[in-house]
This record gives sequence, structure tokens and C-alpha cells, in this order.
Amino acid sequence: MSDQTLRCPACATDLAPNLLTCPKCRRLVHSERLKALADTATQAASPVDALVAWREAFELLPPGTRQYDTIQAKITELGKVVDTLPSPPPSSTAEKANGAGVGRAAGLGAIGLILWKFKAILLLSFTKWKVLLLGLTKASTFTSMMLSFGVYWTMFGWPLALGLVISIYIHEMGHVVTLMRYGVKATAPMFIPGLGAVIRLRQSLGDPRQDARCGLAGPVWGLGAALGSYLLNLATGLPIFLAIANLGAFINLFNLLPFGSLDGGRAFQSMSTNQRWLAVLGLSAIMSMCEGKETSGLLTLLMIGGVFTAVTGKAPKTGDRPGFIAYLVLVTVLTLMLEHLTPMPQA
Ligand SMILES: [Zn+2]
Ligand SMILES: [Zn+2]
Repeated sequence: MSDQTLRCPACATDLAPNLLTCPKCRRLVHSERLKALADTATQAASPVDALVAWREAFELLPPGTRQYDTIQAKITELGKVVDTLPSPPPSSTAEKANGAGVGRAAGLGAIGLILWKFKAILLLSFTKWKVLLLGLTKASTFTSMMLSFGVYWTMFGWPLALGLVISIYIHEMGHVVTLMRYGVKATAPMFIPGLGAVIRLRQSLGDPRQDARCGLAGPVWGLGAALGSYLLNLATGLPIFLAIANLGAFINLFNLLPFGSLDGGRAFQSMSTNQRWLAVLGLSAIMSMCEGKETSGLLTLLMIGGVFTAVTGKAPKTGDRPGFIAYLVLVTVLTLMLEHLTPMPQA
């Protein structure tokens, strides 16, 4: 890096390290790299690989240039292509296994087929688990997770602390898997005791719709974890699973606050002004059904945030409808969970 960064290849002007354009001759500092990245992107085998290359190029272009706008459009376009893909790689291998199995099971009759389906489901859940364990190989994630576990242990006792840490982890992996799907470079999740966990993006997403999908994926997976814990409570009768489901639902609803870089804030960024007002209206309807003080308090905060974003925020002309719907569905289901699952008295 040190041998050629400081001089413009065209006019030999000395360049400050972060400049993207030469101040004297206006040449793009990274034009060689940009050309290579464009080649990589156009020859990429999958839309995700193309996205990875375009995103790197996007970082090397100054905003306001024609190339910047062109690449931003490509990122948006490819994001839509990725959305139409059936599923990320891990589950597609499971599908393949499933498809191959149907022929083999044909001679076995109905029971054989059911057994085979059962095996396919087991296989599918196993591959999902493999994705889930992905983040744990990072030392920073594992260490900060253990530290958080210790802090929560002193607050809630170990069973609830363990459930809480796993719930947060699943929420974060929702973000990670979606970011990977859109070819975005990000850090592994880092736990912050008492505050949940964060993932730092190494690149801007360049598209509010994709940013909203990545943001909402956390609460979607988090809701899945809370529902799973609720099912475990139904199956075992152990009250601890109800407490985990309840706390998980609360944390995920909190993350849907439409402020800044919170998951809800990212979802609101992709909504049009009309959608933002409709979301506020929806939130007030959900709140009118609430009886619990904590839930309606949190929903009031969500509404205040929604009004604030609708009044002050810069909104895209055409809003992201699936994101808007997903946001309201998430808030509704999480609120219903909080309202109807009475937590056990904490030990
Ligand atoms: Zn120059
Ligand atoms: Zn999140």
C-alpha cells in the first residue's frame, strides 16, 4: 500500500490517504482497482459474488459522480435478484438431499416416504444449526458472549441468563445471515453486557431497502427464538422457558424502536412518509389492545419515534412495502406474546 498510494498515477500530484479523486486532474484515484472490480462483477458466477465486488467498488467512488450513481443502481438491482433466490446456500443443499430422496423412497410406500420426509426435516434443521454456530468460531464473539453470560447470571440466575444470551445470539445471526446474502462485509457479533450485542458494518449498504431487510432479520430470527422457547414451555411445562420467551419478546420489541441505527430505525429509513404515518397509526391500534403497563409504555416510545421519523426524516419516494408490512407484523406478534405470556416471578 505504501509504495503507490500517495501519488496520482496521471499527474503525479501527492495525494492525502483518504482522497478518492485527484484534486488537480480530477482523475479517480482507484481507477485501476475499479476496472478490475467491474470485471470481477460482470464475470461473477452468482449475484452475491457480483454484489461483493460492486460494494467494494462503491466504497472507492466519491458520492455525486456518475459512476457512484451507476454502481448504487447496480447494487439495488442485484439486491432484488438476491431476494428472488429461493434460499441461501446451506438450505439449498438440504433441498437437494430432499429431492434426491423422493425417488429412492418411492418404492417404500407411504411409511417410507414419511420416514424420509422426517429425515429431510432433521437434515434441514441440522444445516440451519450449522449456520447458527458460524459466529461462535470467532474468539471476540465467544469471549464477549461468555462475559455477558456472567453479568446476566449475577442479575437473573444462570438459566435465564443462558436463555437470554442464546436469544440475543440468534437475533444477531439473523443480521449476519442476511448481510452475507447481500454480500456485505461486517464484523462478527460482539456482546455488550446489559445492552445486547452489535455488529459493525465494514461497508455502507448503499440501498435503504436492503438495509431494512438486514435490520429486520434480527427481530425476525429473535421472534423465532422466543416462539421456540414458548413451544419448549408448552412441551416441558418448565416456567423458565416462558420467562426466556417473554424477555426475548421484550428485547426484540425494544430493538424495533424507530431510532437511529436500531433495527426499527433501519426499517423506517426504507419507508415512504405515507408508510411512516400508516405505521404510526398501526402502532396506535396495536397499543389500544394492550393492557400491560410495560408493553404500552414501550409502544408509546415506538409511536413517538415513528412520528419523529415521519416529520423529520428524509424518506424515499417509493417506500419498501414488504419491509413496512414485516415491521407491523413483528410488532403485533411480539406485543401479543408480551401481553399473553405471563412471566414467572423472577428468582
Ligand atoms: Zn492527478
Ligand atoms: Zn438487531
